Amino acid sequence: MTDQAILSVNSFLFRWCGLVARAYTRTIYASTPHWCSNSSDPAADRELLLKHPDLVLYWFRIFVSFSGTGTHALVPYRPSSPMEFHLFEQVAWSMEYFTIAHEFGHHLLGHRNADDDPKAQEFQADAFAVKICEQLEFEPFPLLPNPYTRTAAGASLMLLALEILRAFEDPAGEGIAVVDTHPSPSDRIAKISTRNLMQPKQLQMDQEFNGTVVRIMSAVAAVMRDFRRKGGDKLVAMIRQRLHDAEMELRNSGKSSSDEANA
Ligand SMILES: [Zn+2]
Repeated sequence: MTDQAILSVNSFLFRWCGLVARAYTRTIYASTPHWCSNSSDPAADRELLLKHPDLVLYWFRIFVSFSGTGTHALVPYRPSSPMEFHLFEQVAWSMEYFTIAHEFGHHLLGHRNADDDPKAQEFQADAFAVKICEQLEFEPFPLLPNPYTRTAAGASLMLLALEILRAFEDPAGEGIAVVDTHPSPSDRIAKISTRNLMQPKQLQMDQEFNGTVVRIMSAVAAVMRDFRRKGGDKLVAMIRQRLHDAEMELRNSGKSSSDEANA
């Protein structure tokens, strides 16, 4: 199984994709000309994000909530505005399609032998999943092409969001524990975004959409790293401890009431 499986096998996959897609859509709309410009300046990208404290806080709450509780419980419900709706739906669906198709790919390709190269298997499952995504270009809106499935930029968004989540979950190791068995997200995205080498127009589109995802998520990762160091890691640890304490208390009270019943 893969790190994607952590999310895909539980019922919070759709919540996770929905929230990341919503945060991503809002980040794009915070300044579309900025993100679509060719001049890439990581410092300017971070600065732009920091000019939108609501947005930064939204990203932060998503990662804190999923790393602290494994659920979306700590993220406030903020539905999409009419302007955000189409892009949000396209991004969310493309993330879901990729994740499910990737896991299905492992199954279909018979990746069960522990002696096989796990990194090669990841690349194979990715290649399978992006082919499926390409077939779903007109989902979820039949009259509106979805560039996030067509270019597999939804896959890149999923991989990079999970990478940030892992850093929240494993602050000491900066989330690199799975790197031994998995290719890095950047290696996976490099393969995904250059797969159409023989189709120059499609290749350009793939690189533009995946490039924007990488650019935005690099800025998000940098800002989240700062937030983690300024108290985010302690906050996640405290949430986990409190949940653990509450669980123990519940178990003990259940045990003592059954002891009383038996007395
Ligand atoms: Zn996998």
